[in-house]
Amino acid sequence: MKHNRIHNFNAGPAALPLPVLEEIQASFLNFKGSGMSITEISHRSKWFDDVINDAVERTRRLLKINDQYQVLFLQGGASLQFAMIPMNLLAPGKSADYVNTGTWSTNAIKEAKIQGKPIKVVASSEDKNFSYIPKNIPFNADAVYAHITSNNTIKGTQWAEFPDTGRVPIVSDMSSDFMSRPIPMEKFGLVYAGAQKNIGPAGVCLVIIHNDLLELTPADLPTMLKYTTHSTKNSMYNTPPCFAIYTIQLVMKWLEETIGGLDKMAALNQAKADLLYNYMDSTGFYKGTAQADSRSQMNVTFRLPNEDLEKKFVAEATAAGFGGLKGHRSVGGCRASIYNATDINSIQTLVDFMKQFAAKNG
Ligand SMILES: *Cc1c(COP(=O)(O)O)cnc(C)c1O
Repeated sequence: MKHNRIHNFNAGPAALPLPVLEEIQASFLNFKGSGMSITEISHRSKWFDDVINDAVERTRRLLKINDQYQVLFLQGGASLQFAMIPMNLLAPGKSADYVNTGTWSTNAIKEAKIQGKPIKVVASSEDKNFSYIPKNIPFNADAVYAHITSNNTIKGTQWAEFPDTGRVPIVSDMSSDFMSRPIPMEKFGLVYAGAQKNIGPAGVCLVIIHNDLLELTPADLPTMLKYTTHSTKNSMYNTPPCFAIYTIQLVMKWLEETIGGLDKMAALNQAKADLLYNYMDSTGFYKGTAQADSRSQMNVTFRLPNEDLEKKFVAEATAAGFGGLKGHRSVGGCRASIYNATDINSIQTLVDFMKQFAAKNG
């Protein structure tokens, strides 16, 4: 591979588009004629204003969102959003619905409960080790929001379609499938994504919030934990993670100009996932762990006939130039994360390797 790079199937931080990395490299010592690196310029400079404004504009265009929504770049990762969401949106006595589809939903629920918020877990797939996305969920009409995790990075499941919550806005953790497909933004009050899975490096969490929800922010929160602090200052109340935001700008540019938008990206992601799942299903050797109608197009989780073979598979794959195929430490097995930046050729190469491994060990 070019630059001696591996076939990167890491779950996060994860692969970024090579043209983006090359552009960063090429302009790293002298950003736009400033004579400084992007990591050395002031966040109050015109150079950085252009970066953050372009990142926001491209995000808006890709998702087709209007000025009723604000696009924010926050720190503390998706994990801080687990706490900020109930803190900002649930006034005393107000409740929200949560659907538990795995590790990250469980953490979101935990953080709301720590604050003593009377949230309701309206559905869970814990009974089957989170291998599916629940259906026919009894959402409450008086909930302030309904929280879901659109893609479950660790369990390998994904909401193929978003649930009908009536007039209640959906709040979604989209850390591991944000910008992988178009989304019906009108159903959402808030969407958040730690950048390091699909849109950039670690260190920033992108939050899109509707103005109706912004109005709910109470006055007595610590300044940094209020959404309104960040929305009124264009995410520059304090020093933002400039380098991470710059990378996101370039990823959004790649999505718009090289890929051609989210419909195109979704078609590519579908073809990539089909290639891997169809091969797995054609064998008795590799078994997907998610139920077929709940499978993730981003994180393909699978098992081999036993744990010794799984260890051998990961070791031989690593030696052959594949990275990140070990499952999450909490679930074991194997996982191939195939985010936007993973090229279909890498997946074909992986399938070829998997065929050889199954032939030798099956
Ligand atoms: C990785 C991940 C998180 C945690 O993100 P941090 O930015 O590390 O806090 C939360 N939710 C999902 C779905 C994830 O994949």
